[in-house]
Amino acid sequence: MTSKDREAAVIAAVPKQLLIGDAWREAEGGATLPVEDPSTGATLCDVADATPADGMAALEEAAAAQGDWAATAPRRRSEILHDAFRLLMERQDDLALLMTLEMGKPIAQAEAEVEKSAAGCRHYAEHAEQYLEDTHTNTGREKGYVRWLPIGPILAVMPWNFPFWQVFRFAAPALMAGNAAVVKHASNVPQCALAIEEVFRDASFPEGLVRTLLLAGAQVEPVIADRRVRAVTLTGSSATGARIAAAAGQALKKAVLELGGSDPFIVLRDADLAAAAATGVRARHQNAGQSCIAAKRFLIADAVRDDFERLFVQGVEALRIGDPLDAATQIGPLARHDLRENLERQISGSIRMGARLLTGGKRWGDRGAFYTPTVLADVTPDMPVFSEETFGPVAALVNVRDADEAIDLANRTEYGLGANLWTRDIATAETLARRIESGQVFINGMVASDPRLPFGGVKHSGFGRELSSFGIREFVNIQTVWIGPAQGTQPTPKAE
Ligand code: NAP
Repeated sequence: MTSKDREAAVIAAVPKQLLIGDAWREAEGGATLPVEDPSTGATLCDVADATPADGMAALEEAAAAQGDWAATAPRRRSEILHDAFRLLMERQDDLALLMTLEMGKPIAQAEAEVEKSAAGCRHYAEHAEQYLEDTHTNTGREKGYVRWLPIGPILAVMPWNFPFWQVFRFAAPALMAGNAAVVKHASNVPQCALAIEEVFRDASFPEGLVRTLLLAGAQVEPVIADRRVRAVTLTGSSATGARIAAAAGQALKKAVLELGGSDPFIVLRDADLAAAAATGVRARHQNAGQSCIAAKRFLIADAVRDDFERLFVQGVEALRIGDPLDAATQIGPLARHDLRENLERQISGSIRMGARLLTGGKRWGDRGAFYTPTVLADVTPDMPVFSEETFGPVAALVNVRDADEAIDLANRTEYGLGANLWTRDIATAETLARRIESGQVFINGMVASDPRLPFGGVKHSGFGRELSSFGIREFVNIQTVWIGPAQGTQPTPKAE
């Protein structure tokens, strides 16, 4: 089979319709939406364009499946989630190809993402029971303990940038906690959304327990307000976060928000410069720079600025940009043309304000949404590449006198997701980390998510945590049980 035939076969194998009961059917009214390949601009296929009524039908199915699932033994839930792990690994190649075609992620990174999603399933299949064990407290004569009960269907509104990992890192703990899930994925990755729904279905989760809503963002508010939805989570931009938080607040429902970031990458004068520069290049360019935890603002001590600039630019210019289906490609296209236009606005605006262009600064190729990896030096806090989140391959290099100025500038942003700090003085680094306003600080490394560690942000990067025991305890009823000494009863006579 040629590679073109295989691509066509993978696209053809994914359903284009809505799953209702155990059958696929057209959207009400039969409307469809085209799905575009951002590398070529070609239409890959057409997918059902669901109506609000279709969304409500899917929600009804999830709500109907909730009761039995909440009563299912944790051991059984774990077996089924193990199945999802197995299916993801079996389908890894096809799912990765689908992701690459739909949102342009280089194929090697797409394969790694499917594997990480599988690992997330396995982690919760193996650890959820322990994370949710009753917690006993000694309160004296009486007995007291806390248990973690399901709360009901959770709505997850998801982004396109890590179309598999984001969904599984929400769904694996939410399902293991005994909840149903309805997933409204980003509109430019409907095939990924439908393929994920198939994984859950084939893994023998109960019919309807996990449902995909192929709705547009603007149609989500009534779903949040619906009484069957018990809580909502969003991974997306801060602007959408504000809307979803308002809708959840209006309906008095809990929300967990994983929003944008503008992570600092601080390099102090005693850092291992070669390692810092090499890691910085990776931390900025994973997924063509479209990552919430990408290093975006590089705060470099004056004493090492020239050397860092040289090493960093060398690393950036060595990146291979091109066809995301080529296993050697490191930078693919941006996922949509409007994202590239926004990046161009941020870059040209910053250059007009005095930023120095060290490399890049232009589109790449004659089709698709590609942009050449770009480095800007002498960036100041008033420039768009500092004050806004940049979601693409542009690194903003900022000069700082010392650690104090680095911390001051690191915090001079509305975001607070992750931070990278490079120095050989670990004791000082640990002290400095306390002053950084972010949900995670990685010292001499690159910020990354890991199922064993909590993940989330502060300030406009959101609230609540995903992953680890913290993530699975977000969508539960933390029920306190208090048992007093029985009043007025006689001791039970011993059996003869
Ligand atoms: P986005 O525009 O906010 O979209 C995210 C999701 O929200 C999509 O499903 C979108 O649906 C939906 N949405 C849009 N408007 C909505 C509305 N008014 N009501 C309800 N839902 C709505 O974000 P994006 O540009 O796709 O994703 C990139 C952003 O996500 C970046 O800011 C990035 O930093 C952030 N992110 C954060 C994390 C984290 O863990 N903190 C991880 C990954 C990404 P449609 O596609 O239909 O518009």
